[in-house]
Amino acid sequence: MFQTPPAPLRLRLDSAALTANWRWLAERSGAARCGAAVKADGYGLGAAGVVERLAAAGCRDFFVATWGEAVQIADAAAGLSVAVLHGVRDEDMATARAMPVRPVLATPEQVRRWRDAGGGACDVMVDTGMNRLGVSAADIAAGLLDGLAIDTLMSHLACADEDVPLNAAQRSVFAALAGRTAARRLSLANSAGICLGADYAFDLTRPGLALYGGVPRGEAAGAIRQVVTPEAQILQRRRIGPGDPVGYNSTFVADRPMELAVVNLGYADGYLRGFSGTGAARAGDARLPVIGRVSMDLTTFCVDDAPELAEGDWLAIDFDLPTAAAQSGQSQYELLTVLGRRYRRLWG
Ligand SMILES: *Cc1c(COP(=O)(O)O)cnc(C)c1O
Repeated sequence: MFQTPPAPLRLRLDSAALTANWRWLAERSGAARCGAAVKADGYGLGAAGVVERLAAAGCRDFFVATWGEAVQIADAAAGLSVAVLHGVRDEDMATARAMPVRPVLATPEQVRRWRDAGGGACDVMVDTGMNRLGVSAADIAAGLLDGLAIDTLMSHLACADEDVPLNAAQRSVFAALAGRTAARRLSLANSAGICLGADYAFDLTRPGLALYGGVPRGEAAGAIRQVVTPEAQILQRRRIGPGDPVGYNSTFVADRPMELAVVNLGYADGYLRGFSGTGAARAGDARLPVIGRVSMDLTTFCVDDAPELAEGDWLAIDFDLPTAAAQSGQSQYELLTVLGRRYRRLWG
């Protein structure tokens, strides 16, 4: 066997910030319990690591998208409540019957499939105006869920990060379903929905983005802490002069002598091309801007203000999510979930 050396890029993950974000969201959820959406491998951070830390902080309810993701967190979430947001297909049924995990039934077909397999504890998604996954309020009125052992009846807000009438409209359609099913709990709010206020919290909230440092609405600004910082190793330091181009398509041409550091990080690592000419790294207080295009595996930074940096040193990439989203033109969600698998993940 060959030995794999440590990767030249790593994600610094701040456990204290993650749990502080969950506590802030739990407090904003009022009397409702606060869960955690850990789908998409914990929004790119590593789902099992996230579950362990949030469980230690007191979180009891976790949400994944697929049964494969439920299997991934089975050990970390042993004894805790886990629900699979995409429900249950025929292909999932053997796993779904074997695991102590609930499907979030989202279509009449899924409800029938779950009943035919013998039923048991489940959740149900009802559509209240987003027209994504969910059974309709009319289906429920017609008896679709009668006799089903529902733990949580949930719905999802389409525009909670905006101030639009659809928020209150969805809320009131959902509130009208209280007592119409056997559900033990009602759940509506994601991260942005929690910011909308206590009216939206019901019995259980389901934040994702804000746990990981995303700021979905102004109410969370200043309260939510950055969790993820990519760091990449310098592979080469070089000096260029006036007129010298840098990187693919020579989009940058120096107008003065410059010091550059080429680091092991690129769009294949989720450091997307939108950071070309807009992103930055840090060395102490110095801001080191991206020079030229981000390539697949490499990015170049100007290190004029960091004379001490040498080949083999590490750069911390600016990754405050609201700022990085504005720089790159990607959403905060995309920036997290595309981070990829080449990082060594270091929880601190
Ligand atoms: C992803 C998701 C969440 C979490 O949403 P955030 O905006 O990341 O807080 C909650 N509920 C459902 C149904 C989801 O799909």
